[in-house]
Amino acid sequence: MDFFPTEEQKMIQQMARDFAERELKPRAAEIDTTRLLPLPVLKAMAGLGMMGMNIPAEYGGSQTGVVSYSLAMTEIGKACASTAVTMSVTNMVAEVIHAFGREEHRRTYIPRICSGEYPSGAFALSESTAGSDPSSMKTSADRSGDEYILNGSKTFITSGDIAGIFVVWAKTDKSGGAKGISAFLVERGTAGFKVGRNEEKMGQKGSPTNEISIEECRLPRDSLLGREGEGFKIAMMALDGGRIGIGSLAVGIGLAALEYATEYAKNRIQFGKPISSFQAIQWMIADSFTELEAARLLVLRAAHRKGKSLPFTREASMGKVYATETANRVCYKALQILGGYGYMKEYPLERHSRDCRGTTIYEGTSEIQRLVIAREILGGNLV
Ligand SMILES: Cc1cc2nc3c(=O)[nH]c(=O)nc-3n(C[C@H](O)[C@H](O)[C@H](O)COP(=O)(O)OP(=O)(O)OC[C@H]3O[C@@H](n4cnc5c(N)ncnc54)[C@H](O)[C@@H]3O)c2cc1C
Repeated sequence: MDFFPTEEQKMIQQMARDFAERELKPRAAEIDTTRLLPLPVLKAMAGLGMMGMNIPAEYGGSQTGVVSYSLAMTEIGKACASTAVTMSVTNMVAEVIHAFGREEHRRTYIPRICSGEYPSGAFALSESTAGSDPSSMKTSADRSGDEYILNGSKTFITSGDIAGIFVVWAKTDKSGGAKGISAFLVERGTAGFKVGRNEEKMGQKGSPTNEISIEECRLPRDSLLGREGEGFKIAMMALDGGRIGIGSLAVGIGLAALEYATEYAKNRIQFGKPISSFQAIQWMIADSFTELEAARLLVLRAAHRKGKSLPFTREASMGKVYATETANRVCYKALQILGGYGYMKEYPLERHSRDCRGTTIYEGTSEIQRLVIAREILGGNLV
């Protein structure tokens, strides 16, 4: 067992940390207020290899591996959660295309994602009546000669406003439940595929979250990813990987909150002493850091297993549920350490707390992660 990152992993972590400190941290509050991610920053991240970290170099990826991806994601999440979630969905889309796309898809789209020509990718699975249960989706894809005609709508799609390429799930067999779902690639601007309003959210406000309406959207037959009926499997496999990204991001938000609160506690004087000298404050700091370290190790174990091509569904769900819930607890305590100042917009704790909240919801709620973990354990995966 080796708990130490390799020299290359440390280098990538440091590169992401330097970039995040320099380019993201100073802008995070403004990104939150304006609800706008600076596109040149995303392009610069792509230039540093952060938009295709698990993609082979022949398609423009940096192929730094999953552990490096997790370490980098934590650094970006620490500085700006909106940017981190964009990085997460973009890497996820590149990986879906790499894993399930035809060679032509890979050669066409992946280099555009990795180079930053597309500021982001988007993953369009959820619908207003199909969230935790995507098998109940209504969007349909009907075959007509050499085309598929898609009709329906999607809800809460991260990066809808900025994505160049969308992976879109639709039913090719309406009576087929999960087995009737297929996945398609849709380029931005395709007729009949309209990105709608950017939802007003509680946090991660710089990351656009859009509705999408799909009306008589005609796609060439080879827009299909994988085979007809494989869409559900593709979504679940992609989400397993995506959960490593979200768990890593959440650890970053938790660390940012804790670091800020710790420095504050050393300098805030009450009853003639720094509040850090009070045991109640020390326990909040100690518990928070312990739990964040446990979360980090769980997420990194999932990343390590994915990188070694070992099964990692259970580990990714454990990492996601534990890291995201821990980060929320940590933000709660860190804000408490700042007292009234924690509640004020002038200090970053209220933003971290808002940014963190969504992480237990998207890419599968905490309840769904627990279903996945229980299913694995009840199925005998208990070692
Ligand atoms: C900021 C943000 C970004 C998002 N980005 C994307 C995106 O890019 N692409 C995309 O496709 N989707 C995206 N989503 C959608 C997200 O994946 C869904 O919101 C999530 O899966 C939950 O679905 P729902 O909101 O419909 O809640 P519901 O499924 O209606 O769930 C409501 C509650 O019931 C619980 N619940 C549901 N089923 C069960 C069960 N079987 N057992 C126990 N409890 C259950 C849930 O855990 C939750 O607490 C995003 C959401 C948000 C908030």
